[in-house]
Amino acid sequence: MICKICGNTKDNKVFKAKEMMFGTGDCFDYIECSNCGCLQISQVPDNLGDYYPKNYSSHNLSKPNFIKGYIIRKRDSYAFFKKSILGKYIYQKRPNEFLSALGDVHMDFNSKILDVGSGTGYLVNKVENQGYKNLWGVDPFIESNIIRENVKILKKPIKELDEDNFDYIIFNHSLEHIEDHLENIRKASQILSNDGTIVIAMPVKSDYIWNLYHENWVQLDAPRHVLIHSLKSFDTLGW
Ligand SMILES: [Zn+2]
Repeated sequence: MICKICGNTKDNKVFKAKEMMFGTGDCFDYIECSNCGCLQISQVPDNLGDYYPKNYSSHNLSKPNFIKGYIIRKRDSYAFFKKSILGKYIYQKRPNEFLSALGDVHMDFNSKILDVGSGTGYLVNKVENQGYKNLWGVDPFIESNIIRENVKILKKPIKELDEDNFDYIIFNHSLEHIEDHLENIRKASQILSNDGTIVIAMPVKSDYIWNLYHENWVQLDAPRHVLIHSLKSFDTLGW
């Protein structure tokens, strides 16, 4: 079996992983590349969309009540701008390290921002709540497009997006759901502005975590996570 990242065919280990989030127990073959160390599903199932039902977390965003919404916005505001004593207190209790890292990028409020694998807008909504005005999302597994004044979330993969000049393109735990990483990151590079930035958050397989949990590692998330990098395999990608 050939590694989709480095092309290695020798001594790749095949193992089985079960779908656990929705308790179906459906079983999938994965391989661990003996060269670059990445994990990848052997065959992406034709019905992959069935494993993103309406109650999948990023597709099922319930609106919090007024008080909870206020607390979340304060926490997020601290994560972005490192201001507000109340926000700092809440952040210390319930941190969101990705938002904090995104805040450190210091995006302009008029920056053109794309969230790849946005679901129905978990991250886009948070960024909009902080005052950002030009927000885009793409996700092939949502029910339909979501369009409002500051937001356009389109039901399509990034490779079909006919829009460019983005200042920031964010893969917030979405890259591991995509099979062809090189094609997707190259597309992101093509539609990025000249001084734009790509931000990637994703699980990374280490020997320590893999030896400890193996096929029970929560980040395997079969079959939704189709490819999980090691540091070596991400370096190998060569983009
Ligand atoms: Zn490999």
